[in-house]
Amino acid sequence: MFDKLFSPKSVAIIGASQKPLSIGNVITKNLLKYEYKGEIYPINPKADEILGIKAYHSILDVPGDVDLAHMSIPAKFTPMAMDECGKKGVKFVIINSAGFKEVGEEGLALENEVVAVAKKYGIRVFGPNCQGIINTDPELKAYCDFTFTYPEEGHISIVAQSGGVGALFMQAIHDLSVGLRFYASNGNACDISIPEILRYYGNDEKTKAIILYAEGFSDPAEFMEAAREVAAKKPVLGMRAGRTEEGAKAATSHTGGLAGGGLSTELIFKKTGILTFRDVEEMCQSAVALSSQPIPKGKRVGLITDTGGPAIIATDELVDAGLEIPELSDTAKATLKEQLLPQASLRNPIDVVATAGAPHYRAALDVLMGEENIDSVYINFVTPSFVDCEAVAKEMAEVSKQQKKPIVCNYMTDKPQWTGTTANMKEGGIPCYDYPEMAAKALAAMTRYNDLRNREIGTVKTFDDVDKSKAESLLAEAKKANRTILNAKEVYEILAAYGIPAAPWKIANSVDEAVAAAEEIGYPVVIKADSESIVHKSDVGGVAVNLTDKAAVESTVNEMTNKFGAKGLKFFIQKFMPGGQEVIVGAKAEPGLGHLVMFGLGGVTVELFKDVSFEITPVSDAEAKQMLSSIKAYRLLSGFRGAKGVDQKKLVEVIQRISQLVMDLPAIQEMDLNPIMAYEDTICVVDARISI
Ligand code: ADP
Ligand code: MG
Repeated sequence: MFDKLFSPKSVAIIGASQKPLSIGNVITKNLLKYEYKGEIYPINPKADEILGIKAYHSILDVPGDVDLAHMSIPAKFTPMAMDECGKKGVKFVIINSAGFKEVGEEGLALENEVVAVAKKYGIRVFGPNCQGIINTDPELKAYCDFTFTYPEEGHISIVAQSGGVGALFMQAIHDLSVGLRFYASNGNACDISIPEILRYYGNDEKTKAIILYAEGFSDPAEFMEAAREVAAKKPVLGMRAGRTEEGAKAATSHTGGLAGGGLSTELIFKKTGILTFRDVEEMCQSAVALSSQPIPKGKRVGLITDTGGPAIIATDELVDAGLEIPELSDTAKATLKEQLLPQASLRNPIDVVATAGAPHYRAALDVLMGEENIDSVYINFVTPSFVDCEAVAKEMAEVSKQQKKPIVCNYMTDKPQWTGTTANMKEGGIPCYDYPEMAAKALAAMTRYNDLRNREIGTVKTFDDVDKSKAESLLAEAKKANRTILNAKEVYEILAAYGIPAAPWKIANSVDEAVAAAEEIGYPVVIKADSESIVHKSDVGGVAVNLTDKAAVESTVNEMTNKFGAKGLKFFIQKFMPGGQEVIVGAKAEPGLGHLVMFGLGGVTVELFKDVSFEITPVSDAEAKQMLSSIKAYRLLSGFRGAKGVDQKKLVEVIQRISQLVMDLPAIQEMDLNPIMAYEDTICVVDARISI
């Protein structure tokens, strides 16, 4: 699909220039310096030669076919140049120039215009306002980009909308002496999109791991479809960007406030199986390991070290990340005892000691590769001056090439001196890191990837006992009356229509009605001030709990009438539900995605602890379960210190019912069920809020 973009046999540079530091000059220079094997056609109306190559006054003068053309000319000339590319039969155009969508309305119009011209000729446009692509294939060496890092061949492919971030990734991997396969940074992404590039990488056999950076998705659904497809085939590593508080400021509900900005990117990644990082360095280091080593099948790490300290640091880091360091079997220990030096420690970590040579390392590696209860191998290798380190590295490389279990190495040396050793490590595809923490983090990420790949996706249940049209008509009524916040009656009727259990309730307009309602519901009861102007009722004294008799109901109604005024005030009388664990289930509309559903510890302290988890609709049964188990206070739900747990099954069901509810009723902007009282064998909502 994008073969001519990533593997062009000929490249024209419209705007190529003799002027040093101009983009057209840099791109031409990069193609030459990187030793591009195809034809280069500089295009410049005034030059006959640029950087020693024949230049053409127009692309129409070029004798051969042009697969790919760069445009580094002022934005306003690009539609005309695009027309010429069309006439020439160019397949792909990278518009490096800026001055389009990113500068506002006028730029957007120009961008639309240039895309329209391209469409007419069937040209696919990359950019504008972008860097370009790199293909490191030694047979081609296409450097169609104005960046400055010259990557060698490798198996990691990068796609980053932002050029600055893309270049940062490329440099970080280069600094680890590791190569790349493809690089693409597509800026405004007016035509060729991130999902399309992702799919292309997914189908490329030489790409073993993909690094992705996007600041937002013009079409989240399209992205999710592509991401799901590609992440099922190979590791895709993504960065969460734009983690701001802006979203929180605008929100009135708990769920809206806690969702914040940038969260949906992370949720999209999780739902589609993209491994998420919050740290550039860690992501690049993990990509290196994932691109050259097999995926660990589990959490159990076997360590080999020739020095004590770094192995302790590594062990701490691995255990912190949830990995395990199991004891070795007796057979394994017996073999090690036979083959290692007498001073060696046969526990895990295996300390082969500093004087260990190639056969000792090989023995330890073979034992760990054969050991049933070990899933991955971590090596601490400091290069002693009294050991033939090159030979050690050669053994390691040989074992690595068997690709039985993943190996990472904390390689501690003076690289300019130990060149032979370094070369052997590299030749074996062993990911080498300068620090124990780095190596441990990379191994932890690989293990996390295994968990992600094997995660239970579950099924999305459709409840057919719901009354959708009833809920729709309630929303329609509120909308007709220009109300954005539903009243208590409407909210609880919608919950009832979706089979969500709530404490028995009644609305009263007077003292007498309140007493009658309380008697019907049965004491003790709770009274809440029901008025559109009150958001958080308990903050203003609008909630009175545990009212045990008529006198208490009467005085509460009178007090609230005095406090809030009689105008528009109703009384929400509810059964008192003591002793439950308060949890929250909420939802918030998210443009392009449907809704986010939230679960967490509830009650009036929800913003204080922020112990919540999110999912994108539709929420499957497995995802709902995971929402419960991923909060920090999960043990309060599952049973803690003699206390019984709560009815998790019913909570999982409510999450799924809310997922269905907001998908059925897209007009809902935000909703909170807070709290839901959860007991050992039942749950019930005692407060709820819906805005449209
Ligand atoms: P708001 O969130 O508007 O302040 P709530 O209706 O959530 O008002 O009430 C605040 C707190 O009062 C709840 O978190 C809960 O602790 C308690 N509460 C409310 N209703 C009940 C009830 N029916 N039974 C027991 N406790 C309740
Ligand atoms: Mg509440």
